[in-house]
Amino acid sequence: MRAILMYGAGEVRIENVPDPRIEEPTDAIIRVVRASICGSDLWPYNDLPTSETGRPMGHEAIGIVEDVGAEVRNIEPGDLVVMPFAFSDGTCAFCREGLHTACVHGGFFDGYGLSAAQAEAVRVPYADGTLYTIPAGEDDALLPSLLTLSDVMGTGHHAAVVANVAPGHRVAVVGDGAVGLCGVIAAKRLGAEQILIMGRHADRIALAREFGATDVVSERGGEAVERVRELTGGHGAHSVLECVGTADAMLTSIEIARPGGAVGRVGVPHYDTIPGAAQTFFKNVIVGGGPAPARAYIEELLTDILDGTIEPGRVFDRTVDLDGVPDGYRAMDEREALKVMVKP
Ligand SMILES: [Zn+2]
Repeated sequence: MRAILMYGAGEVRIENVPDPRIEEPTDAIIRVVRASICGSDLWPYNDLPTSETGRPMGHEAIGIVEDVGAEVRNIEPGDLVVMPFAFSDGTCAFCREGLHTACVHGGFFDGYGLSAAQAEAVRVPYADGTLYTIPAGEDDALLPSLLTLSDVMGTGHHAAVVANVAPGHRVAVVGDGAVGLCGVIAAKRLGAEQILIMGRHADRIALAREFGATDVVSERGGEAVERVRELTGGHGAHSVLECVGTADAMLTSIEIARPGGAVGRVGVPHYDTIPGAAQTFFKNVIVGGGPAPARAYIEELLTDILDGTIEPGRVFDRTVDLDGVPDGYRAMDEREALKVMVKP
């Protein structure tokens, strides 16, 4: 089959690799119907050390089940399924608590050695626990929104859940990428009264407003903090969704949180220590978050996608085939595209 491998920063190649096959009786093989490029794929695109072997890329997919192992019970060939960015057995203590990204048998798709989603097919471990069968067809108009259940919509929702978004809350979303925009959708869904989007790309801000953002803060650093205070009655936001992953974004998030508020961090951290220790202490700010248990949120969010209440698929502004993936990385890295969908 054809698959995307990254050999170092900026080195994205399409290669012929062996077809994935059932290796464990709990595996499934899915043919990828749609995949996507994630903002987190841009970190290796910028700093992956050069290697001889290449790293399979992609962790967001919708696919058709082609084959299942002997012990798979709930997933059948022909099913259209969402593949969350982490696999999980669905049965361990953490899966039962809804924290599938801490599954004792779990892991992430696009590490070395495991097949990944920017490809024609993927091997999915623990198919019964990992995959979610969706009531849609292969050419359904809802596919872009359903695809966001594999990562960005679940991740934006997780940021909102960890940040304790609740009816009446003032919410600030740090970052206007696909996750931040899905965070706006999630905050509105959970009843936020005010939703500030922190960002400065006109097209993304416009989409944020359509998703429910009530205010825009395009300043940065100290000016941004001042502006948020002005807009929130002087005290800051009850709930802050940190959807970037840099130390600057984290510090801003802590600075704009209201005393007693919470920061939900879902940006993959590119810093070693969380800044603002004294501020979080003296303001009693809760800082939480991590890799979203996207699998746990599919059922709840799917209902709203199917009935048209939310349209997170609008974050995709470009579709490419596998040959177009290298340019898709470039376009997202240069902020020419917001999020790229891959139709292998
Ligand atoms: Zn588990």
